[in-house]
Amino acid sequence: MSYTIALTPGDGIGQEVVSATVPILETAADIGGFDLEMNTYEMGAAHYIETGTVMEDETLEAIRDHDAILLGGVGLPEVDNAFVAAEGHHRIRRELDLWNNLRPAYLFDESVCPLKGYGHGDIDILWFRENSEGEYIDAGGRLDRGGRTDTAIQCSVYTREGIERIARAAFDAATDRDGIVHNITKSNVLSYGAAFWDEVVEEVATEYPDVTLEKLYVDAANLSIVVQPERYDVVVGPNLFSDILTDATAGVVGGLGLAPSANLNPNEDVPGMFEPVHGTAPDIAGEGIANPLATVLSGALLFDDLGEDGAADAIRAAVEAQLQDESAPRTPDLGGDAMTDDVATDLNERLRNLN
Ligand code: ATP
Repeated sequence: MSYTIALTPGDGIGQEVVSATVPILETAADIGGFDLEMNTYEMGAAHYIETGTVMEDETLEAIRDHDAILLGGVGLPEVDNAFVAAEGHHRIRRELDLWNNLRPAYLFDESVCPLKGYGHGDIDILWFRENSEGEYIDAGGRLDRGGRTDTAIQCSVYTREGIERIARAAFDAATDRDGIVHNITKSNVLSYGAAFWDEVVEEVATEYPDVTLEKLYVDAANLSIVVQPERYDVVVGPNLFSDILTDATAGVVGGLGLAPSANLNPNEDVPGMFEPVHGTAPDIAGEGIANPLATVLSGALLFDDLGEDGAADAIRAAVEAQLQDESAPRTPDLGGDAMTDDVATDLNERLRNLN
């Protein structure tokens, strides 16, 4: 068996974490007994500065033809972030309709947890972020720019189809896990969009009599993720709320350096896109100290999606072993002084030894 993977490292630490991850994917593929053909595509803010285009149409067509996409990060401080995102990774999500953004947060070891009293496996959250609608649809306008009545309008859109599909994905997962879904909302204020969101999530819940649904306002969720993260198992939420709160779920399991994600469309024959939750980290880009583990764990999600459970589980086992070993190299975000490549090399060694 052989799979094609499109690599889109992008900008900033995206380049560093993707190149550190590639050998680990190759070792995991050996363990799983399959081959990988990896092709690299230039896109992002640096590519825009060089060529005037964030991502060529041909690039999008080419990556669409792969079995999966591994993305690093997109953006540079000197280029408008919203523009580069819209033409870059958001364009891939939009054009492939990758509506399901899976953001797991798993605590591998108490040493990386900023909270007292939490150990291995005590935090295990599977977050389903709606990835195609809400506030991210690019609709609105600006009136009288710079004038006396300067006004901005930002629209958000919720559709029945969009809510139903992400809710079903969450309920399906909950059926195989703890049988509970937390729905994150703000329907006490957003009386059209969020109220409709709740209505459809509650309708979907009736198809799953064995799963309990709990509704939680986004502000209360923001607090309880930090003080009681063990309360959560499967969570579903609209695009913007989920984007914000999954930085908090990342925080309680060790930070952005350990937070992977998958962008999926299980209904269509399109590749999933896998990427760390973090961005391009301009403050540390080029220093060689970015934590590669969020991208490595995104690679595990990529193998999950390809049905290569052995390779995916091997990566997670190696990460777990590394984080549980006090003498293993750690990047500065985890309190160590190791470089990106030290962590990746050590991890690759552990992976080989699992075999
Ligand atoms: P962008 O504009 O691309 O979103 P950002 O700096 O606003 O970049 P992130 O890239 O998510 O957002 O970074 C937020 C903070 O977390 C930064 O201080 C960054 O250095 C740190 N950080 C993010 N990812 C990593 C990583 N893999 N390893 C170490 N630190 C990281």
